[in-house]
Amino acid sequence: MRTFAKSTKLDNVCYDIRGPVMDEADRMIANGEKILKLNIGNPAPFNFNAPDNILKAMTDNLRNAQGYSASKGVAEAREAILKYHLGKGLKVAGIEDIYTGNGVSELIVMVMQGLLDNGDEVLLPAPDYPLWTAAVSLSGGTAVHYACDEQSDWYPDIADMEKKITDKTKAIVVINPNNPTGSVYPREILEQIVKLARKHELIIFSDEIYDRLLMDGVEHTSIASIDPDLFCVTFNGISKSHMSAGFRAGWMVLSGDKSNVGGYIEGLNMLSSMRLCSNVQAQYLIPEALKGTGAPDKELLPGGRIYEQRECIYTLLNDIDGISAVKPKAAFYIFPKIDAKRFNITSDEQFVLDFLREKKVLLVSGTGFNVSTPDHFRIVYLPEIDQLKYSMGELKDFLRTYKQAP
Ligand code: PLP
Repeated sequence: MRTFAKSTKLDNVCYDIRGPVMDEADRMIANGEKILKLNIGNPAPFNFNAPDNILKAMTDNLRNAQGYSASKGVAEAREAILKYHLGKGLKVAGIEDIYTGNGVSELIVMVMQGLLDNGDEVLLPAPDYPLWTAAVSLSGGTAVHYACDEQSDWYPDIADMEKKITDKTKAIVVINPNNPTGSVYPREILEQIVKLARKHELIIFSDEIYDRLLMDGVEHTSIASIDPDLFCVTFNGISKSHMSAGFRAGWMVLSGDKSNVGGYIEGLNMLSSMRLCSNVQAQYLIPEALKGTGAPDKELLPGGRIYEQRECIYTLLNDIDGISAVKPKAAFYIFPKIDAKRFNITSDEQFVLDFLREKKVLLVSGTGFNVSTPDHFRIVYLPEIDQLKYSMGELKDFLRTYKQAP
């Protein structure tokens, strides 16, 4: 009988949403064990609900959404997206440069499939949101990671970025605000990235899905606004800003000078048409979502849930001997450092697995985000404060005696 194996294109795909830790968590859940999940940025299970106007737009448009739409999306959605990004300083010719997607995820894969030939390189942050690395590998490209510096609020290390540019480099990916660090990049850093892109003729892909989840009065600058004539692709969506990850509404915007990228755009149009269109009902939520400044505003201010949970997790983590964490300024992730020497950690995945088995709390290891050393992990701080307190109490207790077996 004929057997089928995984495509060799997936051999270098590093995408740690699955893997041995998740398999173990699934096994434990199937066994009836209760697990506290601090591993995935999905607001709904933690009692964050989509706002009423979004739910209403969903039901109001049921009838309008029965057929396929234009492959890039309905005009109402793309007009609203255009207005939003023009407001952020992007130079966008019109709605023909806007593509809706089934979440940003679909578009990340699409832009890499359309761009890369075997062996082409793409610069990506370390740590990164690992779908980016996976999409590059899946498209036959080589992911090359530039360092983000924990000592400097996790900003990209520009010297390291420049060092890694070669003849094969096609693009730089910027994730700002960043998952998993919660860092928001200042204008000076973005200017330096733009300079490199100009000098080496690279495309910038900027994932800005958390640009409406900012704290402490920080402002978000779209990198595409710094040099509006530079060709950039900017990604955004309502999964996080409107606590509606399940509806799958995202988009990308092409901005700047398109004179050298005609062939690439032709490929993108082809890929966009091949998936027919994104979920039409979800497209109708976009104008509603972009009417305001963003749904979770009050949650991000003192007294609000995201803000208070951030304060709580930051304090609790830094109170544990052997752990330190930079304070995130956006989103709902924190990326603490663990003293690997002290706990004899040579595999951060094993550390996460050991903690899961003993305390039934699920984290994600730092190497899952493409950092090269086994000394970080990510926490999603969406759960309520009592759960955060409980889980960090368990972590403190676990680390009192933990030494990883050699
Ligand atoms: N980009 C980043 C940085 C993310 O963290 C996520 C989801 O966690 C996505 C993109 C995917 O979002 P979407 O729900 O729009 O596919």
